[in-house]
Amino acid sequence: MKQFDYLIVGAGLFGAVFACEAKKRGKKCLVIDRRGHLGGNVYCENNDGINVHKYGAHIFHTNDKKIWDYVNQFVEFNRYTNSPLARFKDELYNLPFNMNTFYQLWKVKTPAEAQAKIHEQVAQLGIDTPRNLEERALLLVGTDIYEKLIKGYTEKQWGRKAVDLPEFIIKRLPVRFTYDNNYFNDKYQGIPVGGYNKLVAGLLDGIETRVNVDYFKNKTELNDLAENIVFTGQLDEFYDFRFGYLEYRSLRFEHERLEIPNFQGNAVVNYTEREIPYTRIIEHKHFEFGSQAHTIISREYPKEWQFGQEPYYPINDTHNESIIKQYKQLAALEKNIIFGGRLAEYRYYDMHQVIGAALTHFK
Ligand code: FAD
Ligand code: UDP
Repeated sequence: MKQFDYLIVGAGLFGAVFACEAKKRGKKCLVIDRRGHLGGNVYCENNDGINVHKYGAHIFHTNDKKIWDYVNQFVEFNRYTNSPLARFKDELYNLPFNMNTFYQLWKVKTPAEAQAKIHEQVAQLGIDTPRNLEERALLLVGTDIYEKLIKGYTEKQWGRKAVDLPEFIIKRLPVRFTYDNNYFNDKYQGIPVGGYNKLVAGLLDGIETRVNVDYFKNKTELNDLAENIVFTGQLDEFYDFRFGYLEYRSLRFEHERLEIPNFQGNAVVNYTEREIPYTRIIEHKHFEFGSQAHTIISREYPKEWQFGQEPYYPINDTHNESIIKQYKQLAALEKNIIFGGRLAEYRYYDMHQVIGAALTHFK
């Protein structure tokens, strides 16, 4: 008999939800993370009352009542609605693409006028079936919006040409013909009151955790501790990169404290010009309607991932999809190992999807 039923590698949402469910059913878990804290990418650091999203802005949203009720067991959510602004050459536009954006660009006031404008631009393109992000975006919103609000942002975010990226990425953004700046279509949305750490602490309550522990550096001892493993790190790293490295986009955050109460008047402002090296500036206090005398802002600089850096985004293009397929074939043969989460599944998952996947895997 080993000491634990499950060794859970990674204390992000996948690992934490899995551990919580296992504990409920009387299983003994050990959760480890190579970072110095729990929570994975949703971890927040408190700066004199402001919860700073250390790994990028996180807004919880879902259409699934079961997942909404699940997270609400652990923490209350506020009424925050994400309404980012896009800044292009000193002009501000509302996101996602909606009647406000169309008015700001073209001074059109009715849905019919906006649709006619887009239709006129799309008609000249001669694209029938979109084959990549660029073509899909052009079909959705026409050339003006594509050139000002999509192309530059996308190419710096991904470090690749929009014609070389999969179209599903742009389908994350709603396009609507109403005056509605809500970035998400989902029924439920908000930020945990008091920050995401409360959610993670609730999930991991009563479960043994160890931080600053890298699975690969302590593999033999750790494997000996548990009957089963739940692995939420990089799948290619798990198999020693034997089929080659998967590509990821990494990020560099420049966090800055300013002794003013309000820097940009909104939590998220995207900088869509290619020439500006960061993609967005986050002002964290606005996620929780903070009234502190100071503020914290974070500039988000995208870069190509290299070994040893944080792999934030999988790049699900044809090249990487052919590599991940080989790793997943190996993973499917494992007996006592479950692979899950954004890294191990190499999927551009949002939080609610990771939680849903962990609940399903557990079942
Ligand atoms: P992670 O949170 O990455 O956790 C994996 C953990 O495994 C990490 O802590 C890592 O250190 C650890 N680990 C890896 N390898 C090892 C090892 N060898 N040994 C020990 N530990 C290891 N989702 C939304 O729903 N809304 C948003 O607004 C949103 N914004 C985002 C913004 C950014 C910039 C990013 C990058 C993501 C965003 N997401 C958002 C997605 C969200 O972060 C993920 O869906 C979710 O946090 C993934 O959880 P996870 O457990 O799969 O992975
Ligand atoms: N996007 C864009 N302009 C914007 C915001 C997003 O072109 O102002 C595109 C870009 O390709 C981005 C994708 O839409 O990668 C998905 O955006 P989302 O906000 O969902 O990205 P995330 O928050 O996951 O980084």
